[in-house]
Amino acid sequence: MSGEKLQDLFVIGGGINGCGIARDAAGRGYSVTLAEMKDFASGTSSASTKLIHGGLRYLEHYEFRLVREALMEREVLWAMAPHIIWPMRFVLPFQKGGVRPAWLVRLGLFLYDHIGGRKRLPATRTLDLRRDPAGRALKPIFRKAFEYSDGWVDDARMVVLNARDAAARGARILNRTQVIAARREQGGWTIETRNAEGEVETHRARMLVNAAGPWVDQVLSGVLARNDARNVRLVQGSHIVVRRKFDDPRAFFFQNPDGRIMFAIPYEEDFTLIGTTDRDFTGDPRAISITEGEIDYLCQAASDYFAEPVTRDDIVWRYSGVRPLFNDGASKAQEATRDYVLKLEEGMAPLLNVFGGKLTTYRRLAEHALEKVGEAIGAKGAAWTAGSRLPGGQFPADGAAAATRSLIAAYPFLSERHAARLIRCYGSDAAELLDGATDSAGLGRHFGGTLYEAEVRWLVAREWAMTAEEILWRRTKQGLFLTQDEMQGLEDYLRGMAVQHRAG
Ligand SMILES: Cc1cc2nc3c(=O)[nH]c(=O)nc-3n(C[C@H](O)[C@H](O)[C@H](O)COP(=O)(O)OP(=O)(O)OC[C@H]3O[C@@H](n4cnc5c(N)ncnc54)[C@H](O)[C@@H]3O)c2cc1C
Repeated sequence: MSGEKLQDLFVIGGGINGCGIARDAAGRGYSVTLAEMKDFASGTSSASTKLIHGGLRYLEHYEFRLVREALMEREVLWAMAPHIIWPMRFVLPFQKGGVRPAWLVRLGLFLYDHIGGRKRLPATRTLDLRRDPAGRALKPIFRKAFEYSDGWVDDARMVVLNARDAAARGARILNRTQVIAARREQGGWTIETRNAEGEVETHRARMLVNAAGPWVDQVLSGVLARNDARNVRLVQGSHIVVRRKFDDPRAFFFQNPDGRIMFAIPYEEDFTLIGTTDRDFTGDPRAISITEGEIDYLCQAASDYFAEPVTRDDIVWRYSGVRPLFNDGASKAQEATRDYVLKLEEGMAPLLNVFGGKLTTYRRLAEHALEKVGEAIGAKGAAWTAGSRLPGGQFPADGAAAATRSLIAAYPFLSERHAARLIRCYGSDAAELLDGATDSAGLGRHFGGTLYEAEVRWLVAREWAMTAEEILWRRTKQGLFLTQDEMQGLEDYLRGMAVQHRAG
């Protein structure tokens, strides 16, 4: 059985951290297997605010190491995946008597501009909201603002692109495969997995990496039968997506009177993404959903800023996730450290536990994890991911508009919106997906929005997609554009494809 061959590494968890570690390790020449129990990014990694950011707020908690590392990563990641990551300007309005004085915010932004090796991102500036178009969306009491740089990312796609690249570099990547037991045996690990069809497989590995995010403690207690599993603090964060509240391409950073901060971000052309909340969470992270109280809070807080109120009727989608924060004993959820902690247990069968981490710092987290892997089982290869490209990222950092124009020139039947979306999802792979089609009919069945059969088949073949949910809400965000009937049509189609596949 192929699974019983001794691998160097077995990674538990197909979120950003597990996939990032698997990619880095495979690229250095380690043999790697990764198992994800549901779908890639189905945990926290698709439920974020989707920012590649230094974390201005963390300066308040003196997290200088984290902020510096995250700031430096912004331009590294942008160059690595310019289709799914791009710079964004943030407008931070301030008010006399607000929770933080303007000089303090300015000082934070000065540090932000100067400690992170910024080269291409523009610096902070001050705005007069009575003249700047950003002011039109806001209540007239907001007269001044700072405008600063951070980045945007399609979080779920960043995960699957890491998984794809890991596989391209030789890693064995198992979706819908849960690790159900792992024990130290004969100087290594024996790991049992069960896939969605109920098939159990045994694997052997020299080292185990526990990158199970919010489930990291459950893996320790349930899979490894340990009793020291109190390492992460689960903090819920929720978002609402509403019909577009402003035309400006910039995002807003609001400081709420309770000391929390909140973002309102242009989203998928027609929408505004608003979030997030911070509340301690107990229970099964899979069962998480936004509470009525969180919806009220987000609507109310956004309405305090926007000229036009945000109401429940504006909401078209909502999502919620849990931050698996390292438990540093902080009293308030919003004060718990956002930095990551890697704990290595050396010995004949080493174990690396990953606690915390941000999307923004996943590549550095993976590099640090690989240093620990080297200590434990012997180093292979050098750090290589800075300067690398994720699949589809083969164009200049500011080349998305030019890539869209080229795609339209080659496929003139594509609408601007469709072409731009394909470039934003698949970058330089977009043409491969269109497979020489000469008209819309050549893309096969139209499922709604800008989703056609050619893309669906490509996602099934190349990105492990099997269900409508995976395609509509993680591989793409076409769920925002399809009706319930259209979604059902896609689900039926995929079910038919699976039946054909089993029969064939
Ligand atoms: C509300 C919110 C907003 C955020 N905003 C940002 C942001 O704007 N920018 C930023 O940089 N970061 C942000 N973050 C943080 C970031 O999203 C997380 O730190 C990151 O996604 C965690 O990734 P992970 O791989 O550790 O966990 P996950 O993505 O949860 O992955 C863990 C995976 O392990 C799998 N798993 C668990 N147990 C098993 C098992 N036994 N067998 C197989 N698989 C298993 C799970 O199914 C899951 O997919 C935000 C987080 C939240 C909650």
